[in-house]
Amino acid sequence: MKQVAIYGASGCGRGVLPIARSQWYATGEPYELVFLDDHSTAGMLNGHAVLTYAQWLERPATSRHVNIAIANSKVREELVQRCEADGVQFFEVRAPNVVQMDEVSLGEGAILSPFVTLTSNIQIGRHFHANLYSYVEHDCIIGDFVTFAPGVQCNGNVVIESHAYIGSGAVIKQGQTGRPLVIGQGATVGMGAVVTKNVPAGATVVGNPAKPIVKNKNFKC
Ligand code: UDP
Repeated sequence: MKQVAIYGASGCGRGVLPIARSQWYATGEPYELVFLDDHSTAGMLNGHAVLTYAQWLERPATSRHVNIAIANSKVREELVQRCEADGVQFFEVRAPNVVQMDEVSLGEGAILSPFVTLTSNIQIGRHFHANLYSYVEHDCIIGDFVTFAPGVQCNGNVVIESHAYIGSGAVIKQGQTGRPLVIGQGATVGMGAVVTKNVPAGATVVGNPAKPIVKNKNFKC
C-alpha cells in the first residue's frame, strides 16, 4: 500500500490534510494517510494517526509520498532534505477551486489552499505555500520555500526571492515590465503591509506604506 503523509500536525497541517484526503481518495488506489509530527503525542488527530517520521519509515510501503505542511520555510527545507535522502516523493496539495491560468510553472510540493488564484505567465519554485484567498498576478517570479499567509495580494511583475514570508492580507504593488518590484531572499512582510518599494533580503517591513522595522534599544519587555 502507498504511504501518504502530511508533515506537521499543527495549524497548517490540519488545514491541508482534508484536501489531500480528497485527492488521494480520487485516485481509487489503496493508501494510508497519516500526519507526521516529531513532537506530537496526539496519537490520533481528526481521524488520522500521528506518527513520528521514524515510525512512518517502519511501516511497510510500496511507495512513500509527503507534503510538508509547516509554514516555517527553514524547517520545511530541512524536512525536504530528510525526505529526499530516504527516497520519499513529494506531492502537491491543491484545493479543487484553485484557479490557474496560462503558462504557470510550479515546483514540486506546493500547497495551494482554497480560493487561491495564479493568473498567467508565472514562475514559482519548490514547496510554495499559498494560503487561503491569496493570489499571484501575471509575470511574477517566486523562488523556493516562499510562504504566503492567507489573503496575500501579489500583483503583476513582482519577484519574490526564496524563503520570503508574506503576512496575512499584505498587498504587494505591481512592478513594471523589465523593472519588477523585488522582495529579497528571506524577507518578512508583516500582516496587512502595503509594499510599494523593493524589500532588501532579510528585512522585515510593516505598515502602509511598508517600512523596515527599526529596533528601539530603549524599549524593554
Ligand atoms: N515539526 C516537526 N518536525 C520538525 C519541526 C516541526 O514535526 O522538525 C512540527 C511541530 O511539532 C509542529 C509543526 O511541525 O507540530 C509546526 O507547527 P506550528 O504550529 O509551529 O506551525 P504551522 O502549523 O503554522 O506551520
